[in-house]
Parts: sequence; C-alpha cells; structure tokens
Amino acid sequence: MALLEIKLWERGDFTTGSKSAEGRCAWGGVSCTKKPEFTVTDRSGTNFGACEGHVLSYIRDRLKNGPAGK
Ligand SMILES: [Zn+2]
Repeated sequence: MALLEIKLWERGDFTTGSKSAEGRCAWGGVSCTKKPEFTVTDRSGTNFGACEGHVLSYIRDRLKNGPAGK
C-alpha cells in the first residue's frame, strides 16, 4: 500500500516565495492557477500545494509508482 502524505494547506508548510506559499497549486505545475486546498509531500520530502483536482494526480502518482522515486 502506498503512503499518502496529505494535510490541509497551510502557508507555513512552504518556503516563502514559492508558488505553494503564494496560495497557488504547485503540484499541477505552472499552468494551474487554482488555490491549493491541500499540502502533499512527495517521496523526497518536499511539500507541494495541491488544488482539489491535482490532489487526485498526487494520489494516482503514489499508487502507480510505489514508494521509491517520483
Ligand atoms: Zn492544481
């Protein structure tokens, strides 16, 4: 079973100046302009803001690719 690391988005989860800290979804890449509802953590331990749509991309990525490597 894949480990999903998801919590509600908080500004303090991110480095100041990052896209996630500015209140925009970063998991969806540069094209996503939605507000992140969640903070998700990738396998390297980096936090990303994820909107309600892209949190699904995160879950799929974890379930398909297993515990090692992003
Ligand atoms: Zn998004």
